[in-house]
Amino acid sequence: TEAIRPLIAGNWKMNGLKAQAAEFDAMLNGAAEVSGKADLLVCPPATLIAAFAEKARGNKVAVGAQDCHPKASGAHTGDIAAEMLADAGASAIIVGHSERRADHGEGDALVRQKAEAAWRAGLVAIVCVGETQAQRDAGQTLDIVRGQLDGSLPDGSTAANLVVAYEPVWAIGTGLTPTAKDVEQIHGFIREFLSSRFKADGAKMRILYGGSVKPSNAAELMAVKNVNGALVGGASLKAADFLAIAKGC
Ligand code: PEP
Repeated sequence: TEAIRPLIAGNWKMNGLKAQAAEFDAMLNGAAEVSGKADLLVCPPATLIAAFAEKARGNKVAVGAQDCHPKASGAHTGDIAAEMLADAGASAIIVGHSERRADHGEGDALVRQKAEAAWRAGLVAIVCVGETQAQRDAGQTLDIVRGQLDGSLPDGSTAANLVVAYEPVWAIGTGLTPTAKDVEQIHGFIREFLSSRFKADGAKMRILYGGSVKPSNAAELMAVKNVNGALVGGASLKAADFLAIAKGC
């Protein structure tokens, strides 16, 4: 079977002013060196997407968004449509991040609508799933992940329009990571789910690992079977760290 090209995606969360553009410039400068190994995507706050996309034109780094509204336009004060993100130069949208699920009460049905909104605008949807510490302690990890995949992934998902990110909530921003053995088990479970629901496309879809990925653990995590890249939070704010993680692929 054909190897799946890894994707290293950075999620800047609510961090980044215009002054941080220099960090993005450094990523653009270093991208050529790692582009043989992985695709690179940076998802800054929405306020920086247009400027970053402009800078990234013709470069190996793609620019993405962290969320979108399901609708294309309308009376939704403060929200941003996928079409607007596409217009600003985004090529992908993270949907269903655990911080949005927790802070904004987003459930699987809404996440699925947002993924469909990304497609409607011609963008890739990066759908996040993952269990909390309490769910893990209760031995519910696989049930939770299965439920989220079932509810959050739209019919019509393909290897080209959808990326799954497995992000155990307890590993996000904590410095904790699952063991390679745990990651292999859960990614294997996700692969089986995708292959069974989406057939040949499911076998080729990228499954990212996310949660405290840093240069020192990236190579070990990226070497795990069915890990096809990373979704990186904190360490994606520094060009040197982000590029070092991509080199670990
Ligand atoms: C994330 O929130 O997507 C994430 C993986 O964060 P961190 O790398 O900081 O744990």
